[in-house]
Amino acid sequence: MSIRGNKYPPKPKPRQGRRLYIPGHVDPDVMRETVLAFLAEERRAAEADRAAQAAAGEAYAGIKFDLDLAPGLVPPDPRNAELIRWCRRFDARGLTPRYPGGAHGNLSYRRAPGGAAFVITATQCTFDRDMTEADLVCVEAVDPVAGAVRAVGVRAPSSETLLHAALYAAFPGAHAVVHGHSDLLLAHAGALGLPCTAREVPYGSRELAEAVLAVAGAGPVVIMTGHGFVARGADLDAAGRAVVDLVDRVLGRAKGGRA
Ligand SMILES: [Zn+2]
Repeated sequence: MSIRGNKYPPKPKPRQGRRLYIPGHVDPDVMRETVLAFLAEERRAAEADRAAQAAAGEAYAGIKFDLDLAPGLVPPDPRNAELIRWCRRFDARGLTPRYPGGAHGNLSYRRAPGGAAFVITATQCTFDRDMTEADLVCVEAVDPVAGAVRAVGVRAPSSETLLHAALYAAFPGAHAVVHGHSDLLLAHAGALGLPCTAREVPYGSRELAEAVLAVAGAGPVVIMTGHGFVARGADLDAAGRAVVDLVDRVLGRAKGGRA
Protein backbone atom coordinates (compact mmCIF):
# COMPACT_ATOMS: atom_id res chain seq x y z
CA MET A 1 0.00 0.00 0.00
CA SER A 2 1.33 3.38 -0.88
CA ILE A 3 0.58 6.63 0.84
CA ARG A 4 0.21 9.51 -1.53
CA GLY A 5 -1.55 12.78 -2.03
CA ASN A 6 0.12 14.63 0.82
CA LYS A 7 -2.17 17.64 1.23
CA TYR A 8 0.47 20.02 2.49
CA PRO A 9 4.00 20.45 1.17
CA PRO A 10 6.59 19.38 3.77
CA LYS A 11 7.84 22.22 5.95
CA PRO A 12 11.46 23.04 5.20
CA LYS A 13 13.77 22.10 8.05
CA PRO A 14 15.83 24.96 9.49
CA ARG A 15 19.42 24.78 8.35
CA GLN A 16 21.82 23.24 10.86
CA GLY A 17 24.33 25.78 12.11
CA ARG A 18 27.69 25.24 10.45
CA ARG A 19 31.01 26.16 11.86
CA LEU A 20 34.27 27.21 10.37
CA TYR A 21 37.26 25.47 11.90
CA ILE A 22 40.52 27.30 11.54
CA PRO A 23 43.65 25.30 12.35
CA GLY A 24 46.40 26.87 14.43
CA HIS A 25 48.97 27.27 11.67
CA VAL A 26 47.61 28.43 8.37
CA ASP A 27 48.86 30.74 5.66
CA PRO A 28 47.03 34.13 5.97
CA ASP A 29 46.05 34.08 2.27
CA VAL A 30 44.67 30.55 2.59
CA MET A 31 42.75 31.54 5.71
CA ARG A 32 41.28 34.60 4.02
CA GLU A 33 40.14 32.51 1.06
CA THR A 34 38.73 29.86 3.37
CA VAL A 35 36.78 32.47 5.30
CA LEU A 36 35.46 34.16 2.15
CA ALA A 37 34.38 30.84 0.65
CA PHE A 38 32.68 29.90 3.91
CA LEU A 39 30.82 33.22 4.01
CA ALA A 40 29.71 32.94 0.38
CA GLU A 41 28.41 29.44 1.04
CA GLU A 42 26.63 30.57 4.22
CA ARG A 43 24.99 33.43 2.31
CA ARG A 44 23.79 31.07 -0.42
CA ALA A 45 22.42 28.63 2.14
CA ALA A 46 20.67 31.43 4.07
CA GLU A 47 19.05 32.73 0.87
CA ALA A 48 17.86 29.24 -0.05
CA ASP A 49 16.51 28.89 3.51
CA ARG A 50 14.59 32.14 3.32
CA ALA A 51 13.15 31.26 -0.09
CA ALA A 52 12.06 27.82 1.13
CA GLN A 53 10.47 29.22 4.27
CA ALA A 54 8.74 32.03 2.38
CA ALA A 55 7.33 29.41 -0.01
CA ALA A 56 5.97 27.50 3.00
CA GLY A 57 4.33 30.68 4.29
CA GLU A 58 6.42 30.96 7.45
CA ALA A 59 7.16 34.33 8.96
CA TYR A 60 10.90 33.85 9.17
CA ALA A 61 12.77 37.12 8.89
CA GLY A 62 16.26 36.42 10.27
CA ILE A 63 18.20 39.53 11.17
CA LYS A 64 16.28 42.75 10.67
CA PHE A 65 19.14 45.18 10.10
CA ASP A 66 21.49 45.95 7.22
CA LEU A 67 24.79 44.22 7.84
CA ASP A 68 28.21 45.32 6.68
CA LEU A 69 30.35 42.31 7.65
CA ALA A 70 34.13 42.30 7.25
CA PRO A 71 35.43 38.72 7.28
CA GLY A 72 37.70 38.00 10.23
CA LEU A 73 37.86 36.62 13.73
CA VAL A 74 37.04 38.61 16.87
CA PRO A 75 40.07 40.24 18.54
CA PRO A 76 41.83 37.94 21.05
CA ASP A 77 40.49 38.58 24.55
CA PRO A 78 40.16 36.37 27.64
CA ARG A 79 36.51 37.41 27.76
CA ASN A 80 35.83 35.45 24.55
CA ALA A 81 36.29 32.21 26.49
CA GLU A 82 34.25 33.66 29.36
CA LEU A 83 31.43 34.53 26.97
CA ILE A 84 31.42 30.97 25.58
CA ARG A 85 31.42 29.60 29.15
CA TRP A 86 28.34 31.65 30.00
CA CYS A 87 26.59 30.54 26.81
CA ARG A 88 27.15 26.90 27.82
CA ARG A 89 26.01 27.65 31.37
CA PHE A 90 22.79 29.27 30.08
CA ASP A 91 22.29 26.29 27.77
CA ALA A 92 22.75 23.88 30.68
CA ARG A 93 20.26 25.82 32.80
CA GLY A 94 17.70 25.92 29.98
CA LEU A 95 17.89 29.70 29.80
CA THR A 96 18.57 29.72 26.05
CA PRO A 97 16.30 26.94 24.75
CA ARG A 98 17.64 25.06 21.75
CA TYR A 99 16.05 24.86 18.33
CA PRO A 100 17.59 22.91 15.42
CA GLY A 101 20.78 24.79 14.60
CA GLY A 102 20.47 27.51 17.22
CA ALA A 103 19.66 28.82 20.69
CA HIS A 104 16.97 31.28 21.73
CA GLY A 105 19.30 33.82 23.27
CA ASN A 106 22.36 35.98 22.77
CA LEU A 107 25.17 37.17 25.02
CA SER A 108 27.73 39.95 24.63
CA TYR A 109 30.46 41.97 26.34
CA ARG A 110 31.54 45.55 25.69
CA ARG A 111 35.05 45.79 24.27
CA ALA A 112 36.24 48.87 26.19
CA PRO A 113 34.76 51.25 28.77
CA GLY A 114 32.90 54.09 27.09
CA GLY A 115 33.15 52.40 23.71
CA ALA A 116 30.33 51.37 21.40
CA ALA A 117 31.97 48.15 20.16
CA PHE A 118 30.95 44.80 21.63
CA VAL A 119 31.49 41.10 21.01
CA ILE A 120 28.27 39.14 20.61
CA THR A 121 27.19 35.59 19.77
CA ALA A 122 26.36 34.91 16.13
CA THR A 123 22.83 34.42 14.89
CA GLN A 124 21.74 30.75 14.58
CA CYS A 125 24.45 29.64 16.96
CA THR A 126 24.19 26.62 19.25
CA PHE A 127 25.57 27.11 22.76
CA ASP A 128 27.15 23.67 23.03
CA ARG A 129 30.57 22.05 23.46
CA ASP A 130 31.45 22.76 19.81
CA MET A 131 31.14 26.50 20.30
CA THR A 132 34.34 28.39 19.38
CA GLU A 133 35.45 31.99 18.90
CA ALA A 134 34.33 31.66 15.27
CA ASP A 135 30.77 31.76 16.70
CA LEU A 136 31.43 35.26 18.07
CA VAL A 137 31.14 38.49 16.12
CA CYS A 138 32.67 41.89 16.90
CA VAL A 139 30.08 44.62 16.36
CA GLU A 140 31.94 47.85 15.71
CA ALA A 141 29.16 50.33 15.00
CA VAL A 142 25.37 50.39 15.08
CA ASP A 143 23.12 53.03 13.55
CA PRO A 144 19.77 52.35 15.24
CA VAL A 145 17.90 54.92 13.15
CA ALA A 146 19.06 53.51 9.82
CA GLY A 147 19.00 49.96 11.22
CA ALA A 148 22.57 49.36 10.10
CA VAL A 149 25.30 47.28 11.73
CA ARG A 150 29.02 47.13 10.93
CA ALA A 151 30.82 44.05 12.23
CA VAL A 152 33.83 41.76 11.93
CA GLY A 153 33.27 38.00 11.98
CA VAL A 154 32.67 34.86 9.98
CA ARG A 155 28.97 34.76 10.89
CA ALA A 156 26.22 37.38 11.09
CA PRO A 157 25.79 38.84 14.60
CA SER A 158 22.73 37.99 16.71
CA SER A 159 19.33 39.22 15.57
CA GLU A 160 19.10 41.16 18.87
CA THR A 161 22.23 43.22 18.13
CA LEU A 162 20.17 46.46 18.23
CA LEU A 163 18.94 45.63 21.74
CA HIS A 164 22.49 45.04 23.05
CA ALA A 165 23.70 48.26 21.39
CA ALA A 166 20.85 50.27 22.93
CA LEU A 167 21.65 49.00 26.44
CA TYR A 168 25.39 49.75 26.09
CA ALA A 169 24.58 53.25 24.84
CA ALA A 170 22.11 53.98 27.65
CA PHE A 171 24.10 52.41 30.53
CA PRO A 172 27.80 53.33 30.50
CA GLY A 173 28.40 51.06 33.52
CA ALA A 174 27.10 48.01 31.64
CA HIS A 175 29.86 45.89 30.13
CA ALA A 176 27.88 42.73 29.49
CA VAL A 177 24.36 42.00 28.25
CA VAL A 178 22.66 38.59 28.29
CA HIS A 179 19.35 37.69 26.68
CA GLY A 180 17.47 34.43 26.95
CA HIS A 181 14.04 32.87 27.22
CA SER A 182 12.65 31.50 30.47
CA ASP A 183 8.99 30.69 31.06
CA LEU A 184 9.86 30.42 34.74
CA LEU A 185 11.15 34.01 35.00
CA LEU A 186 8.28 35.33 32.90
CA ALA A 187 5.77 33.62 35.17
CA HIS A 188 7.43 34.96 38.35
CA ALA A 189 8.31 38.44 37.05
CA GLY A 190 5.68 40.09 39.26
CA ALA A 191 6.69 38.25 42.43
CA LEU A 192 10.36 39.03 41.76
CA GLY A 193 9.56 42.71 41.19
CA LEU A 194 11.22 42.77 37.78
CA PRO A 195 10.50 45.64 35.39
CA CYS A 196 8.48 44.43 32.38
CA THR A 197 7.99 45.99 28.96
CA ALA A 198 4.51 47.38 28.44
CA ARG A 199 3.54 45.01 25.63
CA GLU A 200 4.86 42.36 23.28
CA VAL A 201 6.97 43.78 20.44
CA PRO A 202 8.54 41.91 17.48
CA TYR A 203 11.99 40.40 18.17
CA GLY A 204 15.06 42.11 16.78
CA SER A 205 13.26 45.40 16.24
CA ARG A 206 14.19 48.92 17.23
CA GLU A 207 10.78 49.06 18.97
CA LEU A 208 11.85 46.21 21.25
CA ALA A 209 15.06 48.05 22.21
CA GLU A 210 13.02 51.19 22.93
CA ALA A 211 10.46 49.27 25.00
CA VAL A 212 13.29 47.79 27.11
CA LEU A 213 15.01 51.15 27.60
CA ALA A 214 11.71 52.66 28.75
CA VAL A 215 11.70 50.41 31.85
CA ALA A 216 15.37 49.39 32.22
CA GLY A 217 16.14 52.15 34.73
CA ALA A 218 14.10 50.19 37.30
CA GLY A 219 16.57 47.28 37.44
CA PRO A 220 19.34 45.35 35.70
CA VAL A 221 17.10 42.42 34.71
CA VAL A 222 14.20 43.34 32.44
CA ILE A 223 11.37 41.06 31.33
CA MET A 224 10.35 41.49 27.71
CA THR A 225 6.66 40.71 27.87
CA GLY A 226 5.70 37.60 25.92
CA HIS A 227 9.32 37.01 24.94
CA GLY A 228 12.15 36.62 27.46
CA PHE A 229 14.60 38.41 29.73
CA VAL A 230 17.55 40.72 29.18
CA ALA A 231 20.10 41.49 31.88
CA ARG A 232 23.06 43.85 32.01
CA GLY A 233 26.00 43.91 34.38
CA ALA A 234 29.43 45.39 35.09
CA ASP A 235 30.89 42.21 33.55
CA LEU A 236 29.75 38.84 32.20
CA ASP A 237 29.74 37.22 35.65
CA ALA A 238 27.53 39.99 37.07
CA ALA A 239 25.02 39.86 34.21
CA GLY A 240 24.94 36.06 34.06
CA ARG A 241 24.71 35.57 37.83
CA ALA A 242 21.88 38.13 38.12
CA VAL A 243 19.76 35.82 35.97
CA VAL A 244 20.88 32.51 37.47
CA ASP A 245 20.31 33.86 41.01
CA LEU A 246 16.76 34.89 40.12
CA VAL A 247 16.01 31.43 38.73
CA ASP A 248 17.49 29.83 41.86
CA ARG A 249 15.32 32.08 44.02
CA VAL A 250 12.21 30.96 42.14
CA LEU A 251 13.23 27.29 42.35
CA GLY A 252 14.10 27.63 46.04
CA ARG A 253 10.74 29.20 46.62
CA ALA A 254 9.03 26.44 44.68
CA LYS A 255 10.87 23.76 46.70
CA GLY A 256 10.17 25.47 50.03
CA GLY A 257 6.55 25.84 49.02
CA ARG A 258 6.31 29.24 50.65
CA ALA A 259 6.33 32.74 49.14
ZN1 LIG B 1 14.70 36.33 22.20
